Amino acid sequence: SAYLDYNATAPVRPEAASAVLDTLRVPGNASSPHAAGQRASALVQLGRSQLAELLRCSPNELVITSGATEANNLALRVAAPDGGQLVVSATEHPAVLEAARQIATDQGCDLTIIGVDRDGQLRLDELHAALNSPLPTVVSIMAANNETGVLNDIQEMAELTRAAGGIFHTDATQLVGRLPLDLSTVTIDMLSLSAHKFGGPQGVGALFLRRGLPVAHRPLVRGGGQERGWRAGTLNVAGIAGMGAAAAAAQAQLDIERERTAQLRDRLEALVLAALPDTQINGRSVPRLPGVSSMTFPGAPADAVLSGLPEVAASDGSACSSGALAPSHVLLAMGRTAEEAESTVRFSLGHATTKAEIDFAAEQVVSVVRRVKEAMWVS
Ligand code: PMP
Repeated sequence: SAYLDYNATAPVRPEAASAVLDTLRVPGNASSPHAAGQRASALVQLGRSQLAELLRCSPNELVITSGATEANNLALRVAAPDGGQLVVSATEHPAVLEAARQIATDQGCDLTIIGVDRDGQLRLDELHAALNSPLPTVVSIMAANNETGVLNDIQEMAELTRAAGGIFHTDATQLVGRLPLDLSTVTIDMLSLSAHKFGGPQGVGALFLRRGLPVAHRPLVRGGGQERGWRAGTLNVAGIAGMGAAAAAAQAQLDIERERTAQLRDRLEALVLAALPDTQINGRSVPRLPGVSSMTFPGAPADAVLSGLPEVAASDGSACSSGALAPSHVLLAMGRTAEEAESTVRFSLGHATTKAEIDFAAEQVVSVVRRVKEAMWVS
């Protein structure tokens, strides 16, 4: 079998699994003053500093959340100026798009959605136009797209936003731990991430909030004042320990994994293209994440392809919206037809992917796509 759905969730790294288990074995609320509580607190500090090291920020610039969905919601809520402008791209994850729609309504903001070209690259002229607005502005542009892997030049966009006096947030969920990122040199104001995309456990993530950023204290969750009041609730000690261990392992392996993953992804594409030359690879001519391949198989609906591939874990569009009947908003924004979008499968690789998995997947994909095309042609 082959697990090629890292963008939905990556396998937990052994270092992270051990850290979670070790932590679960010792009691302690990280807010308690007794020794047991302080042991838990030390584990939280370690996890937080491992994550901070990966991002090159300060540990106290991180607000631990339940994942990127919550981090995105919190970022937009605290940064969106009442009566201002919220700018997002058309290919954002629903955790930004849906949050932005709600917050724009709640806080009376104008919502500006920036389009992309056929390769999925942001239309910078539209960003420039939005930044020309006299309204106080928050821009949220993802670092790497979850469906295509297409990268945005977030450094450039952060600088443009800052020059125009706005606040820049990026949903970097698919980038963190896979490509280098240095918040000590890049002028990003806020950044969201989720541990399970880089080999940590599910249900934990973080929002980076740059020190001194002029945001409103509008937490989504109020209560005991944890996380300096930004996110109340007993800390998820095991989750944070696992996230930290995964961050440390990802950082140590980043260059090797990046290179290996890109080679395996290129091998998958070469094998599939050799046998199915009409396959379209979305975003292939622009900078992409090393481990993602979004393939359109003309004449082969993705649901039929995937149901013929039980031993190859891949996805149509994003896992979060699979099951929904609507074609991918990302591919539609890239100018694909609904039929093309519905004939697209996303393969995503990462730290534990092997050559054997790639060869197995390529062979399976080729034979199933051929069979589906024939069946469609006949019927
Ligand atoms: N943003 C992006 C780009 C994602 O890919 C995902 C996960 N599919 C999320 C946000 C949400 O992450 P989580 O479900 O862990 O909150």
